[in-house]
Amino acid sequence: MRYLALTCSQCSAPLEVAVDQEQISCAYCGSMLLVSHLHRSAATPDEKPHPHPRQSEINQLDAEWETYRKQSLPTNSLGEYVIPDPSSCLAAMWMTGIIGGIVTVVSFGVRAWPIAGLAVIVSAGIIAVLWKQSKIAPVYERSLRNYQSLRLQLMDDSPV
Ligand SMILES: [Zn+2]
Repeated sequence: MRYLALTCSQCSAPLEVAVDQEQISCAYCGSMLLVSHLHRSAATPDEKPHPHPRQSEINQLDAEWETYRKQSLPTNSLGEYVIPDPSSCLAAMWMTGIIGGIVTVVSFGVRAWPIAGLAVIVSAGIIAVLWKQSKIAPVYERSLRNYQSLRLQLMDDSPV
């Protein structure tokens, strides 16, 4: 399952939405949201009628999180953040290994040394990229949980 990292249009909390999901209820503000309205192309943050007493700290945390997402997640053609699916990365690594192995063996057999060398280099390069991608989701999920608990803490806290 592929997930997109979107933002709640009511409270700007982060939402992880499966690509085929149509509706989601925000874990922070409880709003029922239509996923099609959350995509970046249509995103216009609403003015919040009652800002939280610790709104500036929440905004700061959100901004830091947004920076983190921007640095760590790849984007699709719409500029939306995509969380790479580790299992499809693994499957693609296997495919690359098998195809690269076959090309290498066949070109060794016909003594096409440059092609054999190239096949090894190219498939190793692709596998390295896929390996890196497969590591994104677990790290991202840890950071997300951390961010979510910090945000919930801020929202629960009343000012002193
Ligand atoms: Zn919300």
